[in-house]
Amino acid sequence: MTIFYKFEGKMYINITNGCPCDCVFCLRNNADSIKDNDSLWLEHEPSFKEICAAFDKFDKTGISDAVFCGYGEPTVRADMLLKTAEYIKANSDILIRVNTNGLLKLIHKEFDLARFKGLVDSVSISLNAPNSARYNEVTRPSFGERSFEVMLGFAAKMKEFGIKTGFTVVDVISADEISECQRLSDKLGIPLRVRAYVSDNESYT
Ligand code: SF4
Repeated sequence: MTIFYKFEGKMYINITNGCPCDCVFCLRNNADSIKDNDSLWLEHEPSFKEICAAFDKFDKTGISDAVFCGYGEPTVRADMLLKTAEYIKANSDILIRVNTNGLLKLIHKEFDLARFKGLVDSVSISLNAPNSARYNEVTRPSFGERSFEVMLGFAAKMKEFGIKTGFTVVDVISADEISECQRLSDKLGIPLRVRAYVSDNESYT
């Protein structure tokens, strides 16, 4: 079961296969892993004990950054994510990034986002589209139209907390829409990264 894996010099952390979305570009639709790593489909959601054991034995030579990402939305297990981040911080100098759809407040309504402070160094949030209608077509969240605004609110909070915050879009939307996303990102003061769509795990970046 792959909980930790290496990709481009970073350590990735795969704690859940759960996700409330069904993005049109999701790699999970086309492959079982990233590059030559083992399958990222988990046999079960790992316990804290299993995560700690996997971290302890993982070869962390040269690793300075860890990314909660994997084959699912990491904030589905928000408590476990923070517990894991706490363990990593206590046992290394590795910086923590969370790649997320930004829908944590819809997944766990009562979750206090301020708990990210001091444990998460940066967040990369899937903006995916310039407005809620297109967002719903691209991301297909189970929460419906309100998702886009909640995601933007999450980004604003992370920025407010001093956590390094970035947006991403995948180039499955039009060039005009990407320009609109850029304008929205500029307005919010959050940098945008455009990712190329890949349909196989060999060209994944
Ligand atoms: S949020 Fe991530 S894991 Fe979920 S469907 Fe979209 S790309 Fe896949």
